[in-house]
Amino acid sequence: MSNTPTGDYREGVEEHLHSLIRESGLSVTDIVLPYGGALNERIHEAADSACNSEWDVIVASSPNEDAIFAHQGGGALQDCGSMQDVKTRVAYYAYSQDLHDALGRMGDSDVGEVLGHDCCEDCGDFYDPEDHPTEAKALLALAHKEQCPECLESGEDEDD
Ligand SMILES: [Zn+2]
Repeated sequence: MSNTPTGDYREGVEEHLHSLIRESGLSVTDIVLPYGGALNERIHEAADSACNSEWDVIVASSPNEDAIFAHQGGGALQDCGSMQDVKTRVAYYAYSQDLHDALGRMGDSDVGEVLGHDCCEDCGDFYDPEDHPTEAKALLALAHKEQCPECLESGEDEDD
């Protein structure tokens, strides 16, 4: 049996989560809602495919190997017809929980960083700097300022 060191496994889970975040096209606010908000569905899809291809690594390394019982109770494996079935099912719940735990360790600014979004200095909202027109991007870069498109626009007429 190959034993993956826990640190590597944890890093792998975090990298996987980051790629799910980047590919989601979601905003920071949508992602950091309790239990993953709109990212939830993607987490479960990811666990569904990982538990088929990576179940051995997951079962050997996940700190959440008992997550299935927390979700499904003691009878969770009753209708399994094979050992493969058991391992895949255990791995599915373990890996979903691993991804959720990894997300739980991230704050708004960590999620913003993964998305490449900046935090507006005025309103505190996260925004995609690519949403600014080219001239605005250049101005903000010169001023070393992080400002969302809304605040930039409303700040233009009130000059104090
Ligand atoms: Zn703003």
